[in-house]
Amino acid sequence: MTTDSPPTELRLVVDLNRCQSYGQCVYAAPAVFRFHGEEALEYDYAPDPGRRREVERAAAACPVQAIGLGRATEPAPSAGEGAR
Ligand code: SF4
Repeated sequence: MTTDSPPTELRLVVDLNRCQSYGQCVYAAPAVFRFHGEEALEYDYAPDPGRRREVERAAAACPVQAIGLGRATEPAPSAGEGAR
């Protein structure tokens, strides 16, 4: 059995307007999410593909669904487009 497909790069977006700094993501994936100061969330927008499961756990743990996860091969939606 082979796994030919290379791991796809991840793209992570956190809606910081929605984020309430609960910190669940920091506990779930401390290598990707961290707090800067008391409440400002920082995150790695292109985490290592090997961390996908951690990041998925963090997204699932977020009480306000502020974490979006996509693939680098998918075109990033540009702000303002598609909202007509
Ligand atoms: S779990 Fe969600 S609300 Fe909490 S800090 Fe992370 S992104 Fe923000």
